[in-house]
Amino acid sequence: MKVAIAGGTGFIGRHLVKYFVHNNDTVLLISRRQTVSDSPSVSNVTWSELEANPSKLEGIDAVINLAGESINQRWTEEAKQRILHSRLDTVGRLARLLEQIEDKPHVIVNASGMSIYGTSETEVFDETSPKRLTDFLAHTVEQWEEAVDRIQGIRVVKIRVGLVLGHDGGAFPKMALPYKLWVGGKIGSGRQVLSWVHIEDMIRLIDYCIEHEDISGAVNATAPNPVTNDEFGRALGRVLRRPHFFPVPAWLFKLLFGELSVLLLEGQRVIPRVLLDHGFEFKFTAIEQALAQITSGGSK
Ligand code: NDP
Repeated sequence: MKVAIAGGTGFIGRHLVKYFVHNNDTVLLISRRQTVSDSPSVSNVTWSELEANPSKLEGIDAVINLAGESINQRWTEEAKQRILHSRLDTVGRLARLLEQIEDKPHVIVNASGMSIYGTSETEVFDETSPKRLTDFLAHTVEQWEEAVDRIQGIRVVKIRVGLVLGHDGGAFPKMALPYKLWVGGKIGSGRQVLSWVHIEDMIRLIDYCIEHEDISGAVNATAPNPVTNDEFGRALGRVLRRPHFFPVPAWLFKLLFGELSVLLLEGQRVIPRVLLDHGFEFKFTAIEQALAQITSGGSK
């Protein structure tokens, strides 16, 4: 199979590239900058090179778009603009490129987020749940998905990504740090729900969505058993053999991280209904099992 990955230099993308290379697939990495790969099955192209020569996309079987400005920064007005527009721009650029080629991909898999469901400590959300646009990120995700939906004539899968856990990127290393320093504890009330997914399952489920032609539209990328922040911290404390004792009050978190703090102070219980109904089997279903694997070195 030939795949093109935009944003393939990031945390999820790096794992995805390794996975496809291991499976003897061919990868075209689309990036803002020149990148070099040590694998002969990976070639690199910048957005502007691709726009000058869209035929590089001819014959690609699947396009995966993970590109977007990191949300892990203080959400100033400028940062919010970058977070939103980097996503709308890359989808727009991809759409225009795909319009120009004859031999189009069978599927485009685009990242999306769970913020679209709003937050709740008690409700359970699946792909049929209505959108609840309560904050900046929810509005961003909605516009991101609408931009992807405008792509015509190609199967579209919108992966609503949960908190991806891996030892070498994403939020986990920062979440683990206080525990490593013996000062771990719940954040805020501790009752907010974390819908997490292990990086290995994240990669496997993207491939699953590519391979299964009957999957399209929104797909939740979360393990079937979300946990509260308190349960997460207790499990992390156990696997690291460190205390889960020092609570961080919500006000301090808000002071330190501003509006971004909503990501860890509020949450949502999201169930991967579409994947389960299509027979996808998660390798990591329990948080302690996932954290034990990650803290022992994770997926290489
Ligand atoms: P990363 O931040 O690690 O990587 C994203 C990639 O996007 C970068 O490698 C970069 O590629 C590209 N990028 C960064 N800034 C911009 C910009 N301003 N304009 C265009 N492209 C940019 O993200 P992850 O791998 O962690 O996540 C992939 C996607 O999934 C992201 O869109 C993220 O929002 C979403 N997601 C991730 C979650 C997680 O837990 N990791 C949770 C929920 C959603 P390059 O420099 O090569 O152009």
